Amino acid sequence: MLVVMEKSAKKENIEKVCKIIESMGYKSHKIPGPSRTVVCVTGNDKKIYPEKILTIEGVKEIVHVSKPYKLVSREVKPDDTVIKLKNTSIGSNKISIIAGPCAVESREQIFEIAEELSKRDVKILRGGAYKPRTSPYSFQGLGEKGLEYLALAGEKFNLSIISEVLDTESFPIIENYVDIIQIGSRNMQNFSLLKKAGKSNKPIFLKRGFSSTLNEFLLAAEYIISEGNPNVILCERGIRTFSNETRFTLDISAIPILKKMTHLPIIVDPSHAAGIRDLVEPLSKAGIAAGADGLMIEVHTNPDAALSDSAQTISIESFDKLLSKINVIKTL
Ligand code: PEP
Ligand code: MN
Repeated sequence: MLVVMEKSAKKENIEKVCKIIESMGYKSHKIPGPSRTVVCVTGNDKKIYPEKILTIEGVKEIVHVSKPYKLVSREVKPDDTVIKLKNTSIGSNKISIIAGPCAVESREQIFEIAEELSKRDVKILRGGAYKPRTSPYSFQGLGEKGLEYLALAGEKFNLSIISEVLDTESFPIIENYVDIIQIGSRNMQNFSLLKKAGKSNKPIFLKRGFSSTLNEFLLAAEYIISEGNPNVILCERGIRTFSNETRFTLDISAIPILKKMTHLPIIVDPSHAAGIRDLVEPLSKAGIAAGADGLMIEVHTNPDAALSDSAQTISIESFDKLLSKINVIKTL
């Protein structure tokens, strides 16, 4: 349910609405917008008394929200969410490029890549320190040392940094170093991790589970926002289908559909979707053409030597070519 306030509604009356909602056993979420403030009501199974709310001064109307997800929906918040970072922002009429290696491998490696990327149109550096590898025998990441190198590289080259959190125990360590916390595909429905992310004051980059519907994806984002963290970035990174020529199948149609369903920014990850270097450029172009707010791309100064996801990692030269194509598509 949504309580729509008059444009001129006083702050004290908005507070009054929130108090009454909470006294009925629900949670209230104030969502300010350029033309109105709305108070979204979430919770379950309790009786609601709309007449108690409608009589408060400044209340315009009560609207039923038809979707199972509330706070992430455009119904509740029509304006695009913009995520502000120290050196840039994500969302709304702007293409953000997040790039870097799959994993931080050494201080030298991440510094070399960060320096190259900072000379280009990149404001956000990626690099895994705790890696969710399919095989327990594959490189698992450098752990906290990796985060330290990533943070130092980010500082030196004025880049925001993003890295993945695998579990609730290591959450505070990752949170301490990064500007954006990534929750990977395999953890999209790890509800205790989502709730923990909802208590953080850092933006959360939520990757779509590779067997998840868009409804499930948005409900996962809803977990984070309902706990108090409104800064969620969605990432389409490919889903499992019967097609086995690629690692996953990039769900291009998810982008325009999500744009209608939600106000959250949507980033496309062509690298994990394809699993093949040569496909990263065409899928990037498709993602931007379909309306994504940006890309997350695995780039390495020596892709063949990358300790993880080498087959899908592109070189700086290929990255330059890709950026020039994206710049053309951006103008369409
Ligand atoms: C990653 O971005 O490093 C990653 C592991 O991605 P995903 O969760 O999409 O597989
Ligand atoms: Mn990877």
